[in-house]
Amino acid sequence: LGSVDKCTFCLPRLEKGLLPACVEACPMHARNFGDLNDKDSIVSRLLKEATSYHVLKQTDGTLPNVYYTQDIPT
Ligand code: SF4
Repeated sequence: LGSVDKCTFCLPRLEKGLLPACVEACPMHARNFGDLNDKDSIVSRLLKEATSYHVLKQTDGTLPNVYYTQDIPT
């Protein structure tokens, strides 16, 4: 539509049981997706093991759920 859209976490794909397109497409596994309420999910484990992470514009009050880590747990 010629405008910037907000990430929807690929909801139509999630509803089909698929991963978000960018998660599935990245050959280096730079993106991960999962349920932070599930302590055994990949994203919960990665955040727990990361030495640090940040969330963009957390002070804007939009409750973003994208976390950026600077290290890759092994
Ligand atoms: S491909 Fe990735 S960035 Fe784009 S809408 Fe899907 S989850 Fe969001």
